[in-house]
Amino acid sequence: APSGRSAALRARMEERLLAARFRYINQQLYTSTSQEAAQLFQSDPEAFEIYHRGFAQQVGRWPENPVHRIVRYLRRRPASLVVADFGCGDCKIASSVKNKVHSFDLVPLSPLVTVCDMAKVPLAAESVDVAVFCLALMGTNLQEILEEANRVLKQGGTLMVAEVASRFEDIRAFVNAMAQLGFKSVSKDLSSAFFHLLEFAKTGPPRRRPAPGLRLRPCLYKRR
Ligand code: SAH
Repeated sequence: APSGRSAALRARMEERLLAARFRYINQQLYTSTSQEAAQLFQSDPEAFEIYHRGFAQQVGRWPENPVHRIVRYLRRRPASLVVADFGCGDCKIASSVKNKVHSFDLVPLSPLVTVCDMAKVPLAAESVDVAVFCLALMGTNLQEILEEANRVLKQGGTLMVAEVASRFEDIRAFVNAMAQLGFKSVSKDLSSAFFHLLEFAKTGPPRRRPAPGLRLRPCLYKRR
């Protein structure tokens, strides 16, 4: 029936528009500072919803979601460890482990979220055992964000970074830059074609700035 056809056409157009808006917001997040991202979402809460729907769709196409890998990792370690989840999204980590988890994001998708810019989280220095960035190292002020993670981590504490594989230009340069920021590489899991999972331990405060090599390409999704 023609009306059925036009409804289907309309649904497809709406789907395309949402996909286009997702790609646009995503690109903005990767090309602005975290302060600018905070302003974007504050001024347009709908943008956040669209972003999250698109993000979940993208990661849903992958054979494995890195957040599950991080949950498995945390379950192998003592539940007494305090965790900070930077850019927590829908709080999969906080809702899957027994640990005390501080969940930070720009907009609350869940009541477990503390709303803040991850470059400035409301935690005391050296109060956290494990800091997590799961597909969340988005701002261009990467160094400032990682310095904040360093501040809240205890000496010897763990930093877990899961990032889209294609964002890394040069893993060795990235790991060297992390060393300057006070994070020693503990393990690298490059086995997924989609994401890299890097584990670091805090060795001390950031040594000097800026840390060359600390660059990640924006993750831009193709039109489908
Ligand atoms: N870690 C979650 C969500 C990843 S999506 C998961 O793996 O499922 C990236 C998240 O980082 C988004 O929820 C986005 O809102 C958040 N984010 C981006 N910039 C941020 C900032 N400056 N401060 C806090 N959260 C931020």
